[in-house]
Amino acid sequence: MFGSHLSVAGGMENALNEAEQLKLDCVQVFTKNQRQWKIKPLSDEQIENWTSELARLGWHDPKGPHRSVSHASYLINLASPDDELWEKSIGLMQIEIERCDALKIPLLVHHPGAFTTSDEEAGLKRIAKAYKKLFKLTKGAKVRMCLENTVGSGSNLGRTFEQLGQLREMISKETSEPERVGFCFDTCHAHAGGYDMSDRTKADAALDDFDRLCGLENLLCLHLNDSLGDLGSRKDRHEHIGQGTLGMAGGCSGGKKVPLAKTGFAAVVNRPELTNRPMIMETPKGEDPKGTPWDTINVRRLRRLVDSPRT
Ligand SMILES: [Zn+2]
Ligand SMILES: [Zn+2]
Repeated sequence: MFGSHLSVAGGMENALNEAEQLKLDCVQVFTKNQRQWKIKPLSDEQIENWTSELARLGWHDPKGPHRSVSHASYLINLASPDDELWEKSIGLMQIEIERCDALKIPLLVHHPGAFTTSDEEAGLKRIAKAYKKLFKLTKGAKVRMCLENTVGSGSNLGRTFEQLGQLREMISKETSEPERVGFCFDTCHAHAGGYDMSDRTKADAALDDFDRLCGLENLLCLHLNDSLGDLGSRKDRHEHIGQGTLGMAGGCSGGKKVPLAKTGFAAVVNRPELTNRPMIMETPKGEDPKGTPWDTINVRRLRRLVDSPRT
């Protein structure tokens, strides 16, 4: 199932309407301005406008696949050693969770956090403790949290699958609610973080690793992005599908272009365990010179890969 991160400017339901126009299967949104701490609560009208559109599209079937995803604010840092920022982050994440539940959004993606002046172990503990508070504050909430893999720049946690798996273990121990926590896998972040996604066989091996350490059954959502930065560059810059170092296989710098079917994108979209997972593009917006929306071009490239033979 392919979707895109779409704008909610002018009304949350606009993202659903745009997804419908683009003939997508699912959508990702911010339920609030992602760069602001202060937010107005959702009005009943806003909730109604969104949920009625979800229902019209048939995108809210509790037993069906997840078709709407929210991405949490970038301001949140659950790993922060600074008490004030940590408490503030928990407060904002609580609001994110409550908004998702009000809007019947089943998945909430967030970057694990940055340990800044502490260390990895302390940062991970801090996140697990934050989850304990959050799950108490939002008892019974239906939305599932998705820890996203990162490129691992600076002190950002969540680059390696080992660490992501460890983090989910720690959260599960702290909260006894493992069913509320899963993962989001971003192809660009994996590649720039050092897992070679430019080659189909290597990408499949990376997914095997992910399965062993995190469990593909817990991988609830994917971000399909090409990467502007090279393999292992730790640069978080997204590019159109097939136009970055991942889809070019070998890198923009001197690499030769290979068919997309031989890259990691083919591995991801054809992985049987990931059938029916929302696969969201967070690629650049706008239109090509002919006036075709980039989302249309990118999703076409991805759809062509489904069931593409291995040769
Ligand atoms: Zn992402
Ligand atoms: Zn990114």
